Amino acid sequence: MISDLKGTFSQISNNNKRSAIREILKLTQNPEIISFAGGLPAPESFPVDALDSIVSDMLREEGAAVLQYDATEGVSELREVLVKKYRAEGIQCSLDNLIVTTGSQQGLDLVGKVFVNQGDVVICGLPSYLGGIGAFQAYGAKMEGVPMDEQGMSATLLEAKLEELKQHGIKPKFIYVIPDFQNPTGITMPESRRLEIIALAHQYDVLIVEDCPYREVRFEGKPQRLMYQLDQDNHVITLGTFSKIFAPGFRIGWVLGPKDVNEKIVVAKQSADLCTPTFVQKIAVRYMNSGVFEENLQKTIDLYHQRRDVMLEQLEKHMPKEIKWTRPEGGMFLFITLPEHMDALELFHKAIEKKVAFVTGNVFYCDGGGKNTIRLNFSYVNNEKAIAGVERLADIVKAEMLV
Ligand code: PMP
Repeated sequence: MISDLKGTFSQISNNNKRSAIREILKLTQNPEIISFAGGLPAPESFPVDALDSIVSDMLREEGAAVLQYDATEGVSELREVLVKKYRAEGIQCSLDNLIVTTGSQQGLDLVGKVFVNQGDVVICGLPSYLGGIGAFQAYGAKMEGVPMDEQGMSATLLEAKLEELKQHGIKPKFIYVIPDFQNPTGITMPESRRLEIIALAHQYDVLIVEDCPYREVRFEGKPQRLMYQLDQDNHVITLGTFSKIFAPGFRIGWVLGPKDVNEKIVVAKQSADLCTPTFVQKIAVRYMNSGVFEENLQKTIDLYHQRRDVMLEQLEKHMPKEIKWTRPEGGMFLFITLPEHMDALELFHKAIEKKVAFVTGNVFYCDGGGKNTIRLNFSYVNNEKAIAGVERLADIVKAEMLV
C-alpha cells in the first residue's frame, strides 16, 4: 500500500459519512427480528408476472437495441411518457425539462454536484431524509435545519433562518423539501404551506429542491399540487422516481427542472454513469404503456393503506398516552415522539434484544436533535408481524417510562 493512503483520499470522500441507517440495518438482519427499520417497498407489490412477458416480448421485438448505450438525458420514449403524465396533471413542461436519472438518489447527488461548493449553505427540514443530507454534505454543504410542524417545514422559522443568514451575508444554495408523506415523518405540506415557502424562495432568491418519491402513494385526502407547478418561475427542481410506485431495483428516477439547470445536470451525469441502463428504461416504457402501471399502483396503495391502518390501530391500543405519532395520509413511514427525557437509541438496543427494530429519529436531524424520536416503516412487514412488533415495542416503551 502507498505510504499515505489517508492523505490521498479526496476531500469529497472524507466528507462522505457512513449512513447511520445502514449501520442500524446491519443489526436488524436476524430473520427473527421484526423490523420497522428499513425503507423497503413490499416485494408483493412488484409486478413480476407482467414484467415476465414484457421483457421477453421486448427482447424478441427489439433485440440488441435494448442492450445498447442511450442518451445521457434518458431514453426519449420514457421521457415522453413522463412528460405526458405531468402534462395530464396540468403541469407545463416539455422534454427539455425532464431527464432520467439512476434513481432519485442520483438526482440528489447530481444536484449536489452542480450547485454545492465546499461550505455552501443548504436548508433542510428538521428532520429530513438522510440520503439527501448525505448527498449534499458529500460536496461540502453546511446543512441548516428548519423545524417542522404538522404541516411540514415551518414557513415562519424558514423566514427567520433566511433572514439570519442574510444578516451574515450568506445566501443558501437551495431549500431541500419532501412535501408529500415526508421521509421520515410521513407529514404532507398543504398547498398554503407550499405557497408560503415558494414566496420566501422568491423573496430571498433561492432555489427549492422538491423530492417526491412517495407522492403517488396516497391512501386518503386531497392530492397536492407539485411545488414545481405552483411556482411557475423556475425556482423549483423536482425529483421523481419509480422506486415506490413500480420497483426500486429498476433504479429509475428523473429530474423535472428548468432547462438551464437540466443542461448542467446532464453534463454532470455524463461523467457519473454515461446513461441510466437502457434495458430497464425500455422495459419501463412498455410497462407504463401496458396499463398495468395504474392497476398495480392501486394494489400497492391498498396494501400500504391497510398496513398503515394496522400499525395505527396497534399504536392506539398499546402505546401509553404520553406518546405521540403522526398519521400519514400515504407513503411508507410514521414518526413517533417520545417524552423529552427518553432516548430512542437506548430504547433501540433494548428493542433489538426483544427482537423488534426501528430507526432512531436523530439520524434525520442535521443539528443532532430528535433524540426522543423514532421512525417506523409500515410498508414492508405483514399484518401478523406488525401486530406482534408494535406490541413488543409498546412494552419496551412502557417499561422505560417507569424508570
Ligand atoms: N428521496 C427520498 C425522500 C427517499 O426516501 C428515497 C429512498 N427511500 C430517495 C430519495 C431515493 O430513492 P431512489 O434512489 O430509489 O429513487
